[in-house]
Amino acid sequence: MTSIRIGIVGYGNLGRGVEIAVSLQEDMELVGVFTRRDPAAVNTVHERTPVHPMDALEQLQGELDVLVLCGGSKTDLPEQTPLLAERFTVVDSFDTHARIPEHFAAVDAAARSAGTTALISTGWDPGLFSINRVYGESILPAGSTYTFWGRGLSQGHSDALRRIDGVAAAVQYTIPSQEAIDRVRAGERPELSNRDKHTRECFVVLEDGADAEAVRQEIVTMPHYFEPFETSVTFLSAEELAQDHQSMPHGGFVIRSAESSPGTTQTIEYRLQEDSNPEFTASVVVAYARAAARMAAEGQHGARTPFDVAPGLLSPKSPEQLRAELL
Ligand code: NDP
Repeated sequence: MTSIRIGIVGYGNLGRGVEIAVSLQEDMELVGVFTRRDPAAVNTVHERTPVHPMDALEQLQGELDVLVLCGGSKTDLPEQTPLLAERFTVVDSFDTHARIPEHFAAVDAAARSAGTTALISTGWDPGLFSINRVYGESILPAGSTYTFWGRGLSQGHSDALRRIDGVAAAVQYTIPSQEAIDRVRAGERPELSNRDKHTRECFVVLEDGADAEAVRQEIVTMPHYFEPFETSVTFLSAEELAQDHQSMPHGGFVIRSAESSPGTTQTIEYRLQEDSNPEFTASVVVAYARAAARMAAEGQHGARTPFDVAPGLLSPKSPEQLRAELL
């Protein structure tokens, strides 16, 4: 079996998770990490992992099959995914749901004209949860789909907080409403707004001299991220953040509740419980890197999402093996 040669672009929580996840895949090898920072300042999980400046991508192009893009969705990926899709097969985990159509269009244009394959918005939401929403709607058309997140730390939302002027460090937790989950599981099919289903809790360390009220306002009015939710903001010290907010658990449920005939309720529930959101997301993204390598080899050019990827393409097993073992 020839190895799929992976490069990690951007080394934060997700990049670290991808480094670990690639080491668990027998048909993959990690060529290195590529960062915008001084490579000497980046400490990888495995000492042996090479760290390169971003411009080394050009020299190493012939040694890379897939780039796994691990930048933030707010500002990094809108720039990096289309740019790198001009030269590489790429996978990202872009998770600003409302902006996926415009991100797709930008990446698709770049990948089509370059003749590359770009898989966007892999991960768990978007990603595995999205696939389950499609299954639910397609199989049980007469019903409703509910997505609940948490309790968990959202990397995308924490990243958005950290990019605000005056914020030194921050984390954000998403809390699902147990009452709402119970009503959905009971087959009530209630109409629930975002506000009914979740609240968002932000814990923020301010930079010296920052205006707390201005930061709070910028958070609670941020479109897509916080404005549609009941959002609380708590300011705390760097020491408190380090002591009480280090782990990154997450998870959630996608529930489809429907009737197949009057009075006959059918429910599909898909649940994830993650001790580490970045390590779980990275595991998903890495499986999609395998699919991207295969789709590129088949000449499927342009942008794709998890909806376009057949499940067998994620597996290192052959179609024959999959039919014999898992069908
Ligand atoms: P981070 O903030 O940890 O990293 C984002 C980028 O910031 C990195 O690629 C890195 O780029 C840079 N960076 C990291 N650490 C530092 C540092 N100490 N100083 C300066 N720059 C740094 O984000 P995460 O890895 O937690 O999350 C990345 C994205 O993953 C999120 O924005 C979200 O979009 C996505 N995600 C998607 C999910 C899904 O289900 N689809 C689920 C979870 C996350 P560089 O090395 O070039 O400096």
